[in-house]
Amino acid sequence: MKKFFAYFIPILLAFTIGALGSYIQGEALVEWYPYLIKSPATPPSIVFPIAWSVLYLLIGISAGTMLARGDMSVLRLWLLQLLLNFLWSVCFFALRSPFIGLLVILALDVAVFAYIIYAAGRRAVAAWLFVPYMLWLIFATYLNGYIYIHNHGPKATTATAAAMAIAIPKFSLPVLPYADDALAPIMSKETMHYHYGKHYKAYIDNTNRLIMGTPYENMGLEEIVEKSEGALFNNAAQALNHQIYFEGITPTQKVMPKELERRIVRDFGSVENFNREFANTAAGLFGSGWVWLCEDDGGRLSVVPTKDADNPIRHNLNPLMCIDVWEHAYYLDYQNRRPDFIREYMKIVDWDKAASRLTE
Ligand code: MN
Repeated sequence: MKKFFAYFIPILLAFTIGALGSYIQGEALVEWYPYLIKSPATPPSIVFPIAWSVLYLLIGISAGTMLARGDMSVLRLWLLQLLLNFLWSVCFFALRSPFIGLLVILALDVAVFAYIIYAAGRRAVAAWLFVPYMLWLIFATYLNGYIYIHNHGPKATTATAAAMAIAIPKFSLPVLPYADDALAPIMSKETMHYHYGKHYKAYIDNTNRLIMGTPYENMGLEEIVEKSEGALFNNAAQALNHQIYFEGITPTQKVMPKELERRIVRDFGSVENFNREFANTAAGLFGSGWVWLCEDDGGRLSVVPTKDADNPIRHNLNPLMCIDVWEHAYYLDYQNRRPDFIREYMKIVDWDKAASRLTE
């Protein structure tokens, strides 16, 4: 029973501190995340709770192996590192200071290293259990340092400038090279009014609002889409998706340029095969999203569906053309008949524009 508590109490303590820290992070991230420039090495968000859960379990067991033997000697070091761990969440996320966060996480690195050294002299297994945690902390220190460097300096201090300025929006709704009724009846004037004039415009307005006073202010739309997360990513990516979409259609029937046709035939067998695959993918995409004709690094073409706001540039693919299969794209004209919309849409695709986006 005593042994059980020796393990149970530190594990419970580690998870409680971890849960409290995560709560602070979650609260702060919703608001703060769009303002951070992330390192290219940042793993997907889901990795963090999994990694921390495993690591907290290991460090709890580590303290348990000491306590189960009645060895209290390194307990203070263990508590110190747990406290510093929590303090880091507070400084980095709640106080929003990557600088103080960096100081605290460096102190945490030292405390954890000291624990490993002391524990190794008594119970080797207790030290080994801390090694994954130490490695993860080194990585977290790198991330904190990257954010400190890239969110520091004059570029990051434009919040006051933004507050003072008569905000000049960075991105604006592009003027279309065709009249709002030119695509009817395939795409009605009413659809253009809502889809282009309301939905697309809202994504651009939201992007402008979310980048104000942040380091993203100085980036182009594609770079924002590559680097952002959360609300900013959703709005910026939708702004980019709709730009490619509305640029990529035309009231003038176009013949597919020879080079694009050659590549489609090479990679799909025939233009008909491509059309079929594109239409089937667009009809089969569940929920909201987009279907793209993409070019990879080697110049190979493929049909790629993406969910919600996602864009192929996040997957190292170059988008050539796309179809919007969110309901707002077709509901006024086609209601639930998405396949009809897809068939008609293919008649207004600007193949010159798609070919002009080829890089190879
Ligand atoms: Mn849309």
